[in-house]
Amino acid sequence: MSDRRRGYFDEEKETMSKERREAYQRERLSEILQYGYHHSKAIRSAFEKVGLKPEAIRELKDLEKLPVTKKADLVNAQKEGPPFGGFGVISEEGVRRIYVSPGPVYEPGEWDYEDRRWAQALFSCGIRSGDIVLNTFNYHLTPLALMLDESLRMMKATVVPVGPGNISMQINLMRQLRATAYIGTPSFLMAIIEAAEGMHLDPKRDFHLRATFVGAEMFPESLRQKLESKLDLLVRQGYGTVDVGCLGYECPEKKGMHIPEDVIVEIVDTETGKELEMGATGEIVATNFSKVFPMLRFATGDLSYLISEPCACGRTSMRLGRIMGRTDQVTKVWGIFIHPWQVDEIMVKFPAIANYQVVVTRKDYRDEMAIYVELKEEIADKMVMKRRLEKEVQETLKVTAEVVFTVKGGIPDRAKKIDDRRIWE
Ligand SMILES: [Zn+2]
Repeated sequence: MSDRRRGYFDEEKETMSKERREAYQRERLSEILQYGYHHSKAIRSAFEKVGLKPEAIRELKDLEKLPVTKKADLVNAQKEGPPFGGFGVISEEGVRRIYVSPGPVYEPGEWDYEDRRWAQALFSCGIRSGDIVLNTFNYHLTPLALMLDESLRMMKATVVPVGPGNISMQINLMRQLRATAYIGTPSFLMAIIEAAEGMHLDPKRDFHLRATFVGAEMFPESLRQKLESKLDLLVRQGYGTVDVGCLGYECPEKKGMHIPEDVIVEIVDTETGKELEMGATGEIVATNFSKVFPMLRFATGDLSYLISEPCACGRTSMRLGRIMGRTDQVTKVWGIFIHPWQVDEIMVKFPAIANYQVVVTRKDYRDEMAIYVELKEEIADKMVMKRRLEKEVQETLKVTAEVVFTVKGGIPDRAKKIDDRRIWE
């Protein structure tokens, strides 16, 4: 079996120099903008909104002259003009599939799937030709499972189209087919492992997994560590959305997610849609090169940042850092934006804290912010901790908050991290 930690799915592309990559993307961008302007109603209207023609976009950074496409724009346009709302480009041969994703968003699927981004991602995460892969993503309506299925075909790997659910069947298939790779959410992989352990199986000994590819949900480091130790394997993730496809994938180095060559990813200011400086946290916006469902500056609603330092794996692309949260979880208190990830970063400095919740209220036309804190166990001097935490919040968020200790279990399990209880008349 080949070395799963080395090699590339597309060496020439993945190891291009910065200059070559920029030239390649410039060329592909101008090609898709011309194409989109002439074939996609949605892209033409984006240009018309700002009074520009495709020729005005010469450099990658010129993209910010064009408006951002929000998910709501897509959903509304499709409501008005079903099924694709001017976003789909339908050739004479028609479409092979119509996918339906929550929103709802209707998406045309091409006859020949040629997008290689997910295949690059699967390879980078350790999947190789000859693998027997359990694809546990949902094949029903949404495109991800089928995109990955097509990508496994490009890689000459065998797919078991099992879909999610039915854990005892998953365990049987793992064992009877001697599946060598898993594709699915990290939480479902954990559920399979726990169920196997409940049957007195040892996943290390009784499964035959050699590689895993996870995605489609937040992937905390603590869960990764658990999965890796239970399987004695690297567990790596890919990131993307159903609307724009793959936007990043990890490599064995685990230092961010490499951005594939065939998509342009920007990190922008959520308010203005303008690009932020290197390393700053903002919204992930993507422009893909699809001829069937081209997306121009699609705003994903996810927050992350770019990493430009070289990676030891040899891939030369920029990387996305971890996904910090969603733009719609942002709250404005006293005119200052507060994201859940900013509060997270404060809380990790206090290991005694088990759980917390920020509650924003309004009294006499003034915002009030309280942070409810649950401790792992009682500590001797709570007042000292309260003052330290309040100082830290003031310095980091520039907002005054009162820290209130609650009893264990006082914060419900699935409570929102920032609960905005203000009522606006
Ligand atoms: Zn790398």
